[in-house]
Formats: sequence, C-alpha cells, structure tokens
Amino acid sequence: MIPPVFEYLRPATIPEAVSLLQLHGEDAKILSGGQSLIPMMKLRLARPAWLIDINHIPDLAYIREDGRYLKIGGLTREADVEGSDLVRSKYPIIHDTARVIADPQVRNLATIGGNLAHGDPANDHGATMLALEAEVIATGVNGERSIPVQDFFVSIFTTALEHDEILTEIRVPVPAARSGGAYFKLERKVGDFATAAVAAQVTLDSGDSCTKAGIGLTNVGPTPIRAGKAEAFLRGKKLDAQTIAEAARLAMDESQPSADLRGPAEYKKGLVKELTRRALTRAVERASR
Ligand SMILES: Cc1cc2nc3c(=O)[nH]c(=O)nc-3n(C[C@H](O)[C@H](O)[C@H](O)COP(=O)(O)OP(=O)(O)OC[C@H]3O[C@@H](n4cnc5c(N)ncnc54)[C@H](O)[C@@H]3O)c2cc1C
Repeated sequence: MIPPVFEYLRPATIPEAVSLLQLHGEDAKILSGGQSLIPMMKLRLARPAWLIDINHIPDLAYIREDGRYLKIGGLTREADVEGSDLVRSKYPIIHDTARVIADPQVRNLATIGGNLAHGDPANDHGATMLALEAEVIATGVNGERSIPVQDFFVSIFTTALEHDEILTEIRVPVPAARSGGAYFKLERKVGDFATAAVAAQVTLDSGDSCTKAGIGLTNVGPTPIRAGKAEAFLRGKKLDAQTIAEAARLAMDESQPSADLRGPAEYKKGLVKELTRRALTRAVERASR
C-alpha cells in the first residue's frame, strides 16, 4: 500500500531535529532505519504528517568503550552491531541479539535506537538491554537525560521518551571480570519476530558463585519483561543445572504471554522456561572462560 501524504524534513544537527519535533508536535515522527515506521505507514497504522529524517546527522552512529560504558549511538545499524569485533568479543549477548533480528537486508538499515524507541515487545534488543542494566540517553530541548532501561518501556509501543526527544545513545555498563551472557530466540522461520526469546547475563566470583544476574524476556508480555525473581534466586548460588532449572521455572512464571498466531500461551511459557535454561547455561559457560 501507499502511505498517506507526509512532509519530509532532513535536519543536519540534533538541536535542529529537536526543534522540528517541538514545532510539529505529535504530528511529527523521527525516521531512522524506517524498517518499522514505513511498513506501519503503508498499512496506515501510523499517519505522521511530518517525517524528520535523522539519517544525515553526523556522529550518531558509533560503537565504543568509554570508561565505564559501552556506548552505542542511536543511529547505529544492526549490521554494524552484528559486525563489531568489540561487541562480539566482549558483549556476546548483544552480538547474539543483533544477528537474529530480521534478515540481512533489514539489518543493513534498521538501527538499535529505532529498535528500542519503537517500543515493540517483539523487538529483540529490549530484553538484552534489561539483562545488561543498560541506560538510554534521550536528547531534548533541555539537553540529555539518562533513563534506566528498566524504566524505559512503559506499555505496548510506548516508551519513556517525550515526543520531542531523540534516543541518541545506549550505554551498557562494562561487565566485571568473569561475566558472560547469551540470547536465545525461537522464531517460526528465519527473519521472523520471536515466538519467545530470553536474554541472560551473569557474573561469577572466584568461587563460581553468582554475584549478579540479569534476565530479560522478549514477546511474552506488553513490554520486554525483566525476570527479577529469577535473578534474585540466582544471586549467591553456584549455577549448577538444578539451580538454573529452578531459575528458568521462576522466569516462566514471570512471563505474561497471550495466544496469537505464533502459538498458545502455555506453549510460550514452556518456551520461556527452556530458553532461559539454555541462555543461562551458555552465559555461565562464557563467564567461566
Ligand atoms: C521484515 C522485518 C522483520 C523484522 N524482524 C525483527 C526481529 O526479528 N526482531 C526485531 O527486534 N526487530 C525486527 N524488525 C524491526 C526492525 O528491527 C526495525 O528496524 C526496528 O524495530 C525499528 O528500527 P528503525 O531504525 O527501522 O526505526 P524506524 O522504523 O525508523 O522507527 C521506528 C519508530 O521509532 C521511532 N524512532 C526511531 N529512531 C528513533 C530515535 N533515535 N529516537 C526517537 N525515536 C526514534 C520512530 O519515530 C518510529 O516511531 C523487523 C522489521 C522488518 C521489516
């Protein structure tokens, strides 16, 4: 289908983009990779009168470590996240996540900022960023503010971003020694959204006890879900098969799936349990290397 009529604006700087968002209010939308927004416009599920294309703003796409954080620019393409040696070697959970998003064509355009800002519970980065306790940097008229990812997802397709704010950066705390993470996703076919997926990140002490655990769930509720009870259960324990199995059961209890074309709710709950088990097992392997 053809989208409704819209005006196209191409700011050259972030302040210019923010003032255009202010000027046009709720009728304006940021255009990033366009991989969610354009299909929604074609289906007439979104009808922005103004598209503010941020693709030509310099210095919004980068991946670098800077002191305490891995910093990823909001306009960084999924293909660049997937291809980053730094991400692959030190943040394998993010590499696992980027490589199972859609297909290579989509990943060449789609951005990590758009993935989070869209607020779709089926999008993959949300759960991973919850497991990593990341922060989102929102830039608006009053400058930058930091939003913990835990507070970022408000409800389905709704985030804590104000309409005149741009997601400019994602900050992931640099993991402590003996940390590891993994993302496991079940999709009906390559390129599909998750039927369910689980992100798990753990840190072990020198005696192999868990000092920190993060677990995020994809597409089993109105937002990405942090499985806090499962995380708390793991802390202070040695992560053997029995402990992991119990945490997986707790994560399953924290999921809130509904039945849809990808399957009944009970099936998805069972998936959360198994995918949590697999993600935690891989996370422990990686933390132990
Ligand atoms: C065939 C197909 C399969 C897909 N499969 C998956 C999948 O398996 N997993 C997955 O996670 N995703 C999947 N996606 C979605 C894809 O990852 C999208 O690209 C992503 O959801 C949005 O990123 P984008 O850069 O394309 O954003 P856009 O489509 O440009 O924008 C999406 C929304 O976010 C807003 N926005 C974008 N960037 C910013 C910003 N920096 N600041 C503030 N607001 C912003 C826009 O205004 C818009 O409302 C798929 C998409 C397609 C077309």
